[in-house]
Amino acid sequence: MPNTTVVVVGAGHCGLAMSRCLADRSIDHVVLERGEVANSWRTRWWDSLRLLTPNWMTRLPGGYAYRGEDPDGYLAAREVAGLIGDYAVESAAPVLTCTTVTAVESAVESTADGYVVRTDQGTWQAHAVVVASGACATPVVPTFADQVPAGIVSVTPDAYRNPGQLPDAGVLVVGASASGVQIADELQRSGRQVTLAAGEHVRMPRTYRRRDILWWMDASGLLDETYDEVDDLIRVRNLPSMQLVGTPQRTVDLNALQAAGVRLHGRLVGIRDGVAQFSGSLPNVCALADLKLGRLLDSIDIWAMSAGLDGAGDERLAPTRVPAPAPLSIDLRSGEIGTIVWATGFRPDLSWLDVPTLDRKGRLVHDGGVTSAPGLYALGLPFLRRRKSSLIDGAAADAADLTAHLAGHLDAVAARRRTSA
Ligand SMILES: Cc1cc2nc3c(=O)[nH]c(=O)nc-3n(C[C@H](O)[C@H](O)[C@H](O)COP(=O)(O)OP(=O)(O)OC[C@H]3O[C@@H](n4cnc5c(N)ncnc54)[C@H](O)[C@@H]3O)c2cc1C
Repeated sequence: MPNTTVVVVGAGHCGLAMSRCLADRSIDHVVLERGEVANSWRTRWWDSLRLLTPNWMTRLPGGYAYRGEDPDGYLAAREVAGLIGDYAVESAAPVLTCTTVTAVESAVESTADGYVVRTDQGTWQAHAVVVASGACATPVVPTFADQVPAGIVSVTPDAYRNPGQLPDAGVLVVGASASGVQIADELQRSGRQVTLAAGEHVRMPRTYRRRDILWWMDASGLLDETYDEVDDLIRVRNLPSMQLVGTPQRTVDLNALQAAGVRLHGRLVGIRDGVAQFSGSLPNVCALADLKLGRLLDSIDIWAMSAGLDGAGDERLAPTRVPAPAPLSIDLRSGEIGTIVWATGFRPDLSWLDVPTLDRKGRLVHDGGVTSAPGLYALGLPFLRRRKSSLIDGAAADAADLTAHLAGHLDAVAARRRTSA
């Protein structure tokens, strides 16, 4: 059985960031990847997907960053895959591709501190394991999706590629976060009538005070807010993604989508006898999103004034227009809807983790990425240690913190061994 000090599961940007930090401390490790480096960006998502973060925010440990000529642009998915692939090469990351981790177990028989990592290419023994297998591994679809009448195509954002893949009929997009609004926008522009079911969402202008909104969130320190600074950690970890698209100067909020012809409904709450039923809460969720956006922009104004920055004068977005009365049902048997896009979120796939650190819903229990199992860590989960933890730009600080903790753990293991020898 090969031995290593640390096994990192997954060679996305998080696994590679961790690898770089481990290498900087000369900690022996291997990165096990079921596909190729940056597998998610290579094999999933729709053709037109671009980062919603500007290129200058693509920064990774070791001083690696976007080096192109368009720092304010937004990389396409295949360009992100290329950039992460180049990072792996430049870091000389010890990645084993085409190696799927099938189980991680405590190696109690041989060492109280180690793990046995089983893969389809053999078994490893390690003192520590870092789970970097992706927060968005599996789409989450409501249980009532199985009530969709026969003949309607159901698709999730990781399987959607382009409008040509779908029937030439109306589309119901369920979910108004980043994936939902981007796909709704593209399908409406393809000539299909799109209906968007919107629950709680995070409204965001692409630019504010003549700069990208993410520039303000980064410069003001908002994205650096740490997990021990927020009042309700569970809530912030479950917040929907921002309604942003990687197209310069274009906002894709509910007003923009309605102006393009998208019909707006409330949250989809069930399907009964072929009839889709929507919540009447649309006015409330829109008012709440407007209120929260207003608070965000107020805080940016205050910070901009304290930093002596001008640039005021951007119009604030008009309040979200809500159809009155908001429609409460659609008969899915009428032929109006040919496809349902379930843009209802994602979750990690930790089915291979045989260590008792999952709650009863199968979620990893952790404190800033440090689990209760000694030597078991996680990276890349929402608000893991900072507001920006789920962004590419968040990996550097999180990986550095976790590597420091992991190094302390290895020192403690070594000290225990010396004492017992
Ligand atoms: C649609 C979408 C758009 C996004 N846009 C942005 C954006 O604009 N800007 C931004 O900063 N962030 C964005 N994100 C968030 C985040 O940057 C990405 O989700 C990113 O891919 C996460 O990186 P990761 O390394 O944590 O996971 P991944 O990139 O998913 O990497 C995990 C790796 O683990 C491998 N793996 C999984 N299970 C196993 C196993 N059992 N054995 C071996 N290998 C395994 C996978 O093959 C994969 O290569 C976006 C996310 C999504 C879903």
